[in-house]
Amino acid sequence: MNAIERTATKYRHLRLNDAATHLVELLAQAEANELSYLSLAENIADHELTQRTDKRITLNRRKAAFPSDKRLEGFDYRHQTTITKRQVSTLLDFSFIEQRNNLIFIGPPGVGKTHLAIGIGQKAIDAGYKVLFRTALDLVETLELAEMKGELKKTINQLTKFDVLVIDELGYLPMSRQSRYNLFQLINSFYEYRSLIITTNKDFTHWGEFFQNDDVAVPIIDRIIHHSHLFMLGGESYRLNQKMNN
Ligand code: ADP
Ligand code: MG
Repeated sequence: MNAIERTATKYRHLRLNDAATHLVELLAQAEANELSYLSLAENIADHELTQRTDKRITLNRRKAAFPSDKRLEGFDYRHQTTITKRQVSTLLDFSFIEQRNNLIFIGPPGVGKTHLAIGIGQKAIDAGYKVLFRTALDLVETLELAEMKGELKKTINQLTKFDVLVIDELGYLPMSRQSRYNLFQLINSFYEYRSLIITTNKDFTHWGEFFQNDDVAVPIIDRIIHHSHLFMLGGESYRLNQKMNN
């Protein structure tokens, strides 16, 4: 075993796999550019760090479980006149996540609520945050199952490992009292600790009606709205519009 192989093996023992794989290349670069010892040492560390960050982001993107690959770059602000590019861009410094604020997109079907939620989620992942996408229906089912197994707290704790939870289509279907209670536990755990991105077709003025003004629902709404950026999306369905123009 030559000195390079021996060193690479030692790197692998230290779990510096990418540095090990690219050691020859990094050494050759240092040689060709007459780098200082310190620069070479730094390059090796940088290489490993970059690879690890990339891998973590790729993994986070997979864990996010987005239902489709929507990107903000593909969002047409000329079609959606009720939200501006500037409003969306402002969110991309992610101070809303740092401040544990929520985003709420309200509007009729097809106006781009889910597209925006996914697009912002993708950007948050690029920036190193952990995001999870769930539909409200799906989430309620998960919580119900957990509750039946006596694991509600555990399941909610797992969800709070994410910086942002996207809850898509909240308020489309009525929920049982137990489901509302479970959801309340979740919202409570996220409150001022993690961020939610919610899409809904219900204006908040109708949420009381949806939740039947009960003693579980009203605190949920209060907690969601407190520290939230609300975006009312209007206009025609993008899907419908595309169809008619074709
Ligand atoms: P919503 O969640 O409000 O019902 P979606 O986000 O699912 O609507 O949008 C419906 C479809 O139309 C999706 O394929 C989405 O990518 C597309 N879409 C909606 N609005 C826009 C827009 N402003 N620019 C580009 N595509 C859009
Ligand atoms: Mg949607």
